[in-house]
Amino acid sequence: VVELVAASDDEINQAAEMIRSGGIVAFPTETVYGLGANAFDANAVARIFEVKERPLFDPLIVHLADASQVDQVAYIGLDNPLVNRLVEHFWPGPLTLVLPKHPDIPSIVTSGLDTIAVRVPGHNVAQNFLRAAGVPVAAPSANSFGSLSPTRAQHVKDDLDELVDLIVDGGPTTWGLESTIVAVHEDQLQVLRLGAVTVEALEEVARQSVQIAGMNAGDKITTPGQLPRHYSPRTPIHMINRGESLELLPLDKCCYLAFNAPPVNETVTVEVLSPTADLREAASRLFDVLHRIDASGAEMIVAEWMPERGLGRSINDRLRRASATRS
Ligand code: AMP
Ligand code: MG
Repeated sequence: VVELVAASDDEINQAAEMIRSGGIVAFPTETVYGLGANAFDANAVARIFEVKERPLFDPLIVHLADASQVDQVAYIGLDNPLVNRLVEHFWPGPLTLVLPKHPDIPSIVTSGLDTIAVRVPGHNVAQNFLRAAGVPVAAPSANSFGSLSPTRAQHVKDDLDELVDLIVDGGPTTWGLESTIVAVHEDQLQVLRLGAVTVEALEEVARQSVQIAGMNAGDKITTPGQLPRHYSPRTPIHMINRGESLELLPLDKCCYLAFNAPPVNETVTVEVLSPTADLREAASRLFDVLHRIDASGAEMIVAEWMPERGLGRSINDRLRRASATRS
């Protein structure tokens, strides 16, 4: 049984040593918990795919302690004015950039692509851990492939206990939603996955409108975060618009997931994501609440669409994929 260790200096050094000796370690970031390995160690990275049962076509995000390390893993770097502006503004933080890959990074990390996804996380424990490790750390979310992302150390333990070498417990994550992934093509940006950084914020900093991949019918899937079914709880989800009739639903077996208020005149178990209608709070509680509903024995989740702006768009993206039918 793997230990949950508090994020003290000693434990962080132990986790860093584990990474340098080829181990795999779960650690907190501001988005969700990651499962990390030395990005230069193909065998250690292979174990991540094995443990998550993640298909080898799904590339990993490489985490750096500091933006100055970006040229160890990618080619265009800080000399590209657009990359420079994004890095200055959003790093450390929940923005992942897809850049041309450095040849020293083993191809298993990027699933054979000639691009690499990188970010500098803003979480204290993640920063100390990455600095102590001294190497770039390839880390997808610390959950089995396709299932709910972990926002607490206990979620990782429940899902992957015994399969990982160490779990560093840094408490609940602050954003609770994955990073926004952006591909940089010369002077153009394309959002590959909606996430904790809003499209509005990106457009403001980039001083241009950005294209969102996969939003048009017939768009090619370029990243597994775009798979129709992903980020899913075990309990089936049925999406509705606020105010829509619940008449035909088996409400005694449902849990109703509301944005800011329970549905009026209905008797049903309710989880409210943010009583003050704060999208950031709603985003940070989403996966946590879904984990809890999964454990509650509810047979169906009836979930409201969030307002389609800012982080509401990212939450709706997750709900859309979480509710897509199992194939
Ligand atoms: P996860 O950390 O589990 O949320 O997964 C990382 C996400 O980053 C996946 O959806 C990957 O497909 C995406 N990703 C990683 N590398 C690349 C890349 N080179 N190009 C496009 N997407 C990428
Ligand atoms: Mg994931």
